[in-house]
Amino acid sequence: MRYPKNPDEVVAIVNEAISRGITVKAFGARHSQTDIICTEGIPVDMLKLKFSRMNDDNVTATFGAGVTLKDVGKFLLQHGRALRTTPAYGHITLGGAVGTGAHGSTLKYNSSISAQVVQMTIVDGLGRKLVISDADDLKSFKIHLGLLVLAHNYIAPDKVLTNGVALNWARASDQIMFCWFPSTKEVVVANSTFLPVETYGTAHSAIVPRTYGYSNLILHKAKEIAYELATNECTLASSLGNKIVHAIEILAKSSLFAQTPGFVPIYSEDGVLLQNPAIGFPNEMLSSVCSEENSGLTGKACVWAHGDLHANLTALDNEFAIPIDEIENFVLTVKDILSKTPTAFPVQGIIFRFSAQSDSYMSVSHGRDTVHIEFLVAKRSNSYEKASGGLAGYQTIGQSLARKFSGRSHWGKSGLIYHSSEMLDIKLNPIPRAKFVGNIGMMFNLL
Ligand SMILES: Cc1cc2nc3c(=O)[nH]c(=O)nc-3n(C[C@H](O)[C@H](O)[C@H](O)COP(=O)(O)OP(=O)(O)OC[C@H]3O[C@@H](n4cnc5c(N)ncnc54)[C@H](O)[C@@H]3O)c2cc1C
Repeated sequence: MRYPKNPDEVVAIVNEAISRGITVKAFGARHSQTDIICTEGIPVDMLKLKFSRMNDDNVTATFGAGVTLKDVGKFLLQHGRALRTTPAYGHITLGGAVGTGAHGSTLKYNSSISAQVVQMTIVDGLGRKLVISDADDLKSFKIHLGLLVLAHNYIAPDKVLTNGVALNWARASDQIMFCWFPSTKEVVVANSTFLPVETYGTAHSAIVPRTYGYSNLILHKAKEIAYELATNECTLASSLGNKIVHAIEILAKSSLFAQTPGFVPIYSEDGVLLQNPAIGFPNEMLSSVCSEENSGLTGKACVWAHGDLHANLTALDNEFAIPIDEIENFVLTVKDILSKTPTAFPVQGIIFRFSAQSDSYMSVSHGRDTVHIEFLVAKRSNSYEKASGGLAGYQTIGQSLARKFSGRSHWGKSGLIYHSSEMLDIKLNPIPRAKFVGNIGMMFNLL
């Protein structure tokens, strides 16, 4: 493993790889759940390459690829600026977010972090340091002028997903996300509006769930019992198991808009009491962070970071991008699948987020306004030998997204769908596919 601290050290690593006839692979926080961060060559950890500076125009800024989105947000805030759209987790790196075209949820503004890049310095496969700023290669977008976000989460009947209302809301909103809970026929709407800088508010969100140690412990045990029952051949046992998972789902739904025992409030100023609606800075509201350290029974940490209590809750993230006008068909397809096989969505339901069409070749929203459909499958403690309840439903939905809706899997979180040649055919239309294949030999590190 190499840990370059500056671009010249990256050049040296690439030159070494050339002389040894092997490849290099740069990565950031390694939060991608797919094979894109694997390598048989030299692994290059970019986390030490982090710096932040405002450019002379006082509008754009330059960052090292290893800087986290949380630090990007903090730095921009000091200069009265913010990113217009950002993925939900602040501990991923700028290089990783750009690498995978990571998105937030807006049709109004730029489609991803990548779409906000106006210039990149890279090291190519020949060890050359290059500056890329050609508009054909990099599509620019100015950073947001407003500085605060008003977020309001509320519940709506799920018919808004099929009668065009949700789509109209999406087109009119600065940022919007829907969490659909098919079992109760409801949608939690998370609607965010940019406000002028003069507005006051210091709330933060827990949209990437952070949990108390004790609640993780209880949920962890309940999940194991429920899935053990749900996968039992006895109908009575499996129906009881499914009922327990649905009960967890109802609690999870409540935590997205109401104060819910055992759950860290979704928006809060003090971290204890819920504020909904809430006002805060974009980096705190749209891209949250959670502690990845041990935190004890009453402490708060990322849902997957309660290892000290043997209560980690890990999930396999499945995300596919489909054309925006397929929402209604997709909802009807899922309803049909769920009428045949019981499936619950205890981690935030089925999530709908949006991106306007992008001209980045490898973006999943290339050439079409997009809805990103995401659901998380809670894993068993012994995930290689024991199945999660509802697996048949999850797999059928995943297959439908890929095949029926030409869904393009997220580069960093595509569940059990791999980036095979078949998936690349679905993901990339012929022009980007040809360009992608043509350029794949030019491995590069983003500085
Ligand atoms: C809790 C959580 C929430 C998330 N929320 C969202 C979300 O809201 N929206 C969304 O779109 N995604 C989301 N993701 C997925 C995440 O944005 C991507 O997986 C992202 O790539 C992770 O960044 P990373 O720093 O961990 O990069 P890694 O996983 O380490 O790398 C990702 C890719 O980028 C390449 N790469 C990284 N750094 C460099 C570099 N310096 N030079 C060249 N290549 C590089 C790697 O080779 C790899 O191909 C989430 C992930 C987590 C864990």
